[in-house]
Amino acid sequence: MSAPLIELDGVSRVFPGGDAGVCALDAVSLSIMAGEYVAIMGPSGSGKSTLMNLIGCLDRPSAGAYRIAGREVSALSADALAALRRDTFGFVFQRYHLLADATALENVVIPAVYAGLPADQRAERGETLLGDLGLGDRTAHRPGQLSGGQQQRVSIARALVNDPPVILADEPTGALDSQSGADLLDLLDSLHAEGRTILVVTHDASVAARARRVIRIRDGHVVADERNPGPEAVAAAAPVQPVMRPDGAADGGISGDVSEAARMAMRSLKANPFRTALTLLGVIIGVASVVAMLAIGEGGKRQVMARIQAMGTNLLLIRPGAPGTHRADVITLRNGDAEALTDVANVDIVAPERSNTLTLRFGNVDHKAEIKGTWAGFARARDWNLEDGIFFTDEDVRTYAAVVVLGRTVAAHLFGGDSGVGRYVMIRNVPFLVIGVLETKGATTYGTDMDDVALIPLTTGQSRLFGREHLSSVMLHVADTAVAGETQREVRALLLERHNGVEDFQIRNTAAILKAAENTQNSLTVLLGAVALISLLVGGIGVMNIMLVGVTERTGEIGIRMATGARMRDILLQFNTEAVVVCGLGGLLGVGIGLLAAIVCRLLGMPVVFSPWPSVLAFACAFLTGLVFGFLPARKAARLDPVAALSSE
Ligand code: ADP
Ligand code: MG
Repeated sequence: MSAPLIELDGVSRVFPGGDAGVCALDAVSLSIMAGEYVAIMGPSGSGKSTLMNLIGCLDRPSAGAYRIAGREVSALSADALAALRRDTFGFVFQRYHLLADATALENVVIPAVYAGLPADQRAERGETLLGDLGLGDRTAHRPGQLSGGQQQRVSIARALVNDPPVILADEPTGALDSQSGADLLDLLDSLHAEGRTILVVTHDASVAARARRVIRIRDGHVVADERNPGPEAVAAAAPVQPVMRPDGAADGGISGDVSEAARMAMRSLKANPFRTALTLLGVIIGVASVVAMLAIGEGGKRQVMARIQAMGTNLLLIRPGAPGTHRADVITLRNGDAEALTDVANVDIVAPERSNTLTLRFGNVDHKAEIKGTWAGFARARDWNLEDGIFFTDEDVRTYAAVVVLGRTVAAHLFGGDSGVGRYVMIRNVPFLVIGVLETKGATTYGTDMDDVALIPLTTGQSRLFGREHLSSVMLHVADTAVAGETQREVRALLLERHNGVEDFQIRNTAAILKAAENTQNSLTVLLGAVALISLLVGGIGVMNIMLVGVTERTGEIGIRMATGARMRDILLQFNTEAVVVCGLGGLLGVGIGLLAAIVCRLLGMPVVFSPWPSVLAFACAFLTGLVFGFLPARKAARLDPVAALSSE
């Protein structure tokens, strides 16, 4: 005689509870050969379901040994157990245990999904089975649209989809009318005739009469084990033997798993649209604010940077007054200082300035503007091009020439559309020849119009307009910015020497100003981004919260999936995928809405700069949020005890 298919040896199952626990099974020993048809009978609470769950590898014995085809089960990992369960057993439950959101066909193929069967083969097999069971026209119906007998047939099709050698049926006729019950028993008979091993739990004597062997249990003990007279004890067909995979054998590629999990996730999200929308909202708000805030922050930064850059970035600015003071009227910088500074290495342009606000007159048009006396290098140092005409030269400065170069604003005021080059304007009754007009420069960081200026040779200004020999400032253009700091120290040393050791001047470096402003703007952007990320985090916590509720609600579904062969990682993957799908969807919508918000802000006149990285970042964050915040609920789901999960339905 060959080895038994199912062999229990002194198996006990004690549930926690009471002082010593509830002993549902007490040292049960029995063996079942492949191809047998066994009925297990006993009063309610005698331990029948507990025995079935143990045999079906949904539960583990508290004591004793359990072997399937000679293989000890207690040594197997949870995932190996799930694989063994999937390949060996088909479950039929009293209450059908179908997924309410899935169609008949989808329900039938669940075990095949976990067995890694390709989708087209799955569908084909499911349709064939449903057709054989007389449900060919009901494949797209949901359980709620089917009668009890039809639902039970769907669950039988599900039990058969992986072609398991053993069918375990726990009171399969308990909820059926007598005709459906009789049909079901005929079905079990024919499955047995095909060579399958059938174990059916029942307390209906007519059901037991169909079996070839009846095992009676009471209070966790086997009290009788007898063969029915009648047909031979073992089916005519050669019994189907279980497939024994080595522990941990791979099945179903991970990519197939993921796409299937994504499909299941979409289905369960669609099943609860209002809740899904609310969950999405949290993520959308988070992502949209990240995208919009960073676009606005970047826009503000670019604007400030552009204004500072318009001043020129490789300049040293020397002003009168001790460092830290803000007095423009002190007389500490003189022409001699500017002349001395021309000798400093790495300084290629020196442009001293002396300015005053005076009225320019052309014909009967008056315009008040800043009149700035400077040297010929000024325009080059400021990187300021001419729109028309020329700039004055060193020669003009040396000869006290009465020439003027106008800023765009001044030219516009005095001459309207005409540039004015070649005409004379009066400043303090001195006629100046207009020789050039500067290009538009725009506003400073503080908002003053840089084009509202008229430039004249410093010598002419000092002798004929300002009357004094001191300077408002000296601008130095540095040839090599890499050593700007070195140059700044040299300039300071030189001026200290000229001023008898008194530091009555201040030197500023525009590159340093730019850097400082950039840092300020960056931290502002980071701050905006951080606030937005926090809202994304809150969205993520919302996802986790709803998922945790979802796991509790769907405990029954998880139980069904586990009973039909899902490994822990399948459940983990499914729930985590749901979270990732929600967050990914929320991320996409959020990016769209965030960009829209930024566009609206731009239309309202705010500086907004679009770059792809905030969108990518925010989407990646949302995706990650799904992974991270979905993990806890998914793990909770995966760790559920299959028996407890099943019984929650
Ligand atoms: P049957 O299916 O024969 O009606 P069960 O196998 O479901 O009986 O239960 C046998 C005994 O084990 C009962 O006394 C029941 O209360 C107890 N039992 C079953 N499952 C659990 C459980 N998860 N926790 C505690 N006690 C349980
Ligand atoms: Mg029971």
